[in-house]
Amino acid sequence: MSDHASTNAGATVDVVVVGAGFSGLYLLHRLRGLGLTARVFEAGDGVGGTWYWNRYPGARVDIESQEYSYSFSDDLQDEWQWTERYAAQPELLAYLNHVADRFDLRPDIQFETRVTAAVYDEPSATWRVTTDRGEAVTARFCVMATGCLSSPNEPDFAGLETFKGPTYHTGKWPHEGVDFTGQRVAVIGTGSSAIQSMPQIAAQAAHLYAFQRTPNYSVPAHNGPIDPAMVADWKANRAEYRQQERMSAIGILAIAPTERLALETPPDERQKIYEEKWAQGGFAIGGAFADTGVNLEANTTAAAFVAGKIAGIVKDPKVAALLTPKDYPFGTKRLCVDTGYYEMFNRDNVTLVDVSTAPIEAITGAGIRTANGDYAVDSIVFAIGFDAMTGALGKIDIRGRGGLALKDKWAHGPRTYLGLMSAGFPNLFMVTGPGSPSVLSNMVVSIEQHVDWITDCIDHLNGRQLSSIEATAEAEDGWVAHVNEVADSTLYPMASSWYLGANVPGKPRVFMPYVGGVGPYREKCDEVAAKGYEGFALASAGRG
Ligand code: FAD
Ligand code: NAP
Repeated sequence: MSDHASTNAGATVDVVVVGAGFSGLYLLHRLRGLGLTARVFEAGDGVGGTWYWNRYPGARVDIESQEYSYSFSDDLQDEWQWTERYAAQPELLAYLNHVADRFDLRPDIQFETRVTAAVYDEPSATWRVTTDRGEAVTARFCVMATGCLSSPNEPDFAGLETFKGPTYHTGKWPHEGVDFTGQRVAVIGTGSSAIQSMPQIAAQAAHLYAFQRTPNYSVPAHNGPIDPAMVADWKANRAEYRQQERMSAIGILAIAPTERLALETPPDERQKIYEEKWAQGGFAIGGAFADTGVNLEANTTAAAFVAGKIAGIVKDPKVAALLTPKDYPFGTKRLCVDTGYYEMFNRDNVTLVDVSTAPIEAITGAGIRTANGDYAVDSIVFAIGFDAMTGALGKIDIRGRGGLALKDKWAHGPRTYLGLMSAGFPNLFMVTGPGSPSVLSNMVVSIEQHVDWITDCIDHLNGRQLSSIEATAEAEDGWVAHVNEVADSTLYPMASSWYLGANVPGKPRVFMPYVGGVGPYREKCDEVAAKGYEGFALASAGRG
């Protein structure tokens, strides 16, 4: 049973933090370091966020383990040893539990508690935060560390309630695990969660039906035990590597900066470079050339390369063709990093079901009905993704100045200044909010940058007896325009991706993350702070 720090009705703290994943844990550590009182609320019964909830078979990080980890403590970095090149979910969860214990964070975290509302009180410049346990806490600052991918999309297939077997969502996987031995299993979805889990499910189940609406580009991880030579190199050069990550495009060293253009590289040399990147594994291929993300013709060379790989791996040419993306550019949906995904389709016990041409019509008592026929299965796995970036925030009744609801303000898409704050919501910060690099980056690098900026900002206000900070509408308008302009200069908007909210019916289509790069974004945030928080209004109590 998790520990429960008690919060009395009417309690007051300096800062309320919502969420105890990578973001919430580091926030708490930094806030304590400033001598502030903080209360963290977490819906789950343990720390870890993403790595607490997503326990499906095959779940693992798609960025090398040592890079997808905190850099704020040398001691922590020295003492923790990763075992695999890409750590699996249990190891990531163990790491985050270790962090919680090592920095003695648990006493200030209240588990199994969902924040339901946060309401700003203008006269006192404080937030009143209430929970599903009926508690209320007052705080000067409220930080939403609620996660970009923490609000799973719920299946709404007709007839779902009639299905006789068990169903699972990858984003809410049972803690005790699932044994699929001897079962016929349907997996709906072919995003990263499905691509990681299906090879493992197929190895166990009697039969796996992969229901695919849109094929994804996937590249091999080439996972394995961590290389001792790499560990030694990382240790010797860690400070420099960390700094390179912070100033890079997406916070990953595997994507080395390059000015080389695919269209100016002779075809045989281009092919050789793609082969090298494929052999390196993971996101390396995304950094092969500088023009694949912005020039469709250049992009086609990468798409053709991956198509050739799929055709070479998958023995049935019809299946290979179905698995090959055709209607969006390479890399404009999150690239998947797999272990044996395409190879899995050569197994006798795996069937690819194309639901783009013959959609799922209903779930029946016995399985799944498509326009082409029925598939009898014993269990169904929904790998259908998340209401990304705004989903978790939208579930909280957040009200700022004049009772303005954040949900209403964002009805036509999220609006923020730097992805950190939204005008009309003083003293409310977001970690990796829409309008920041967030999901287009190594998230731990971006999380640390946001947490440092937010806590430095709070310290700045406290040091000057200032009670509130709020993004100005003007600065926000400018930033939103910039975020859109940069996104429109790339190929990203050409895909119906969750970056655009396209996976949630009715969600406004707005490109949410900031494509401008982790390094330039950091410089912009630092510059804003150095200029006395330019674009923000700072005020003393009562002088809003
Ligand atoms: P989260 O880890 O999502 O934590 C947010 C926490 O807030 C959750 O525990 C949630 O329960 C809690 N919460 C939300 N709302 C409330 C509320 N109202 N009240 C109380 N608690 C609440 N990123 C990468 O960079 N590399 C990867 O390889 C990678 N792999 C991923 C794999 C999966 C399966 C998923 C889903 C995401 C992955 N991500 C990856 C993104 C990942 O979410 C981030 O890397 C990172 O873990 C986010 O940390 P966080 O603390 O900001 O949010
Ligand atoms: P996702 O990428 O959104 O994929 C969801 C899949 O479900 C898509 O293939 C989608 O098809 C399909 N789908 C949704 N509704 C459907 C319906 N009604 N009928 C048929 N198919 C349906 O979600 P995810 O796989 O959970 O990944 C989300 C993000 O989390 C990733 O992009 C990544 O950022 C992160 N993640 C990372 C890793 C990792 O490798 N470390 C692993 C998992 C997740 P359409 O494309 O047609 O909509």
